[in-house]
Amino acid sequence: MSIRLHNVAKHFGRTCALEPVNLDIRDGELVGLLGPSGSGKTTLLRIIAGLENADREPAGRILFGERDVTHVHVRDRRIGFVFQHYALFRHMTVYDNVAFGLTVMPRKHRPTSGEIRARVHRLLEMVQLENFAKRYPAQLSGGQQQRVSLARALALRPDVLLLDEPFGALDAKVRQDLRRWLRHLHDELNFTSVFVTHDQEEALELSDRVVVMSNGRIEQIDTPDALYRAPANRFVFEFLGDVNHLEGEVRGGTLTCGDAHLSVALPDGPEELLLRPHEVKLATAPTREAHLPVTVTAISPVGAEVRVELAADWLSEPWLATVRHADFEQLNLTRGQRLFAVPRRWHRFPDPARQALAPETAAALS
Ligand code: ATP
Repeated sequence: MSIRLHNVAKHFGRTCALEPVNLDIRDGELVGLLGPSGSGKTTLLRIIAGLENADREPAGRILFGERDVTHVHVRDRRIGFVFQHYALFRHMTVYDNVAFGLTVMPRKHRPTSGEIRARVHRLLEMVQLENFAKRYPAQLSGGQQQRVSLARALALRPDVLLLDEPFGALDAKVRQDLRRWLRHLHDELNFTSVFVTHDQEEALELSDRVVVMSNGRIEQIDTPDALYRAPANRFVFEFLGDVNHLEGEVRGGTLTCGDAHLSVALPDGPEELLLRPHEVKLATAPTREAHLPVTVTAISPVGAEVRVELAADWLSEPWLATVRHADFEQLNLTRGQRLFAVPRRWHRFPDPARQALAPETAAALS
């Protein structure tokens, strides 16, 4: 079921939670709403659900497929919900929790008890909880409870599944597992899902497309890959990962900042360059193009790459570089070591008025 929002806005009193937005979610898509706290994600999700009414002015519209649901009550929108706090019925078993929505359907729409049993068992099998059917929520871990919530939301075969920070209360490993669950169920059952998160990694890993929001605005809607490679503006670039800043004055093709300098093919004037940690190479000597002296302040060797925190001579804010384990060993990195940062690539978002344009990026200098 596709979801289309046209010119939908929301104020709470004088607070503008959502500026007029347009959003087109395709049938079968898994879309993440990503943004910092207060950016309007939950408001947008609740408006899609029908839990919140959009402003009357402008008169926005919400379509599920061809059906205009702008004024349709939440219970008639055929939506499944999963919230951060499992909201399971404590006094019911896992089986009864999943079956609940089906057993309270009006008789003429209600499946037979045999059909209900088969459907619930199938769902419990899909979330691998078939052996937990007789347990009560209190006898389950947080991750298991959230899988029950997922099964319960899917029991009514919703056209649309809405999830509000569904994994927010769980620890990192369980979150990872549950993401896989959701992706798997989504692909197998082929519904349309929208989920809210403030976790960049979660949004980028799970979504077909991500809606990046700030201050009640949609900043960019794109695939994870496109967002990361071609952020529409500085906000998106900075929100999607760690960023190092190099700010100074360009004169005659050299950007100078204190005693640091970098050759750049840019016009004279104030300039700020932004670099991702993996775009910073570490070397024991400066190059002809780059003289950026740094001191190693912390080393974290956990993960696929080594994260190296650096005190930059020209800036009070620390820099971050990620280096391959092989390079880490070759450089024999230790805390306190003096090194030189060499940008492989940098980005710039020069004029706020032009921020909606694609960023200019520069190729490797060394
Ligand atoms: P978070 O990640 O913290 O949940 P969010 O991106 O989901 O944030 P919203 O909950 O949509 O943000 O809130 C957007 C803005 O609307 C905020 O400024 C918030 O204070 C305000 N807001 C949300 N709900 C209400 C409400 N019921 N009454 C008044 N203001 C509200």
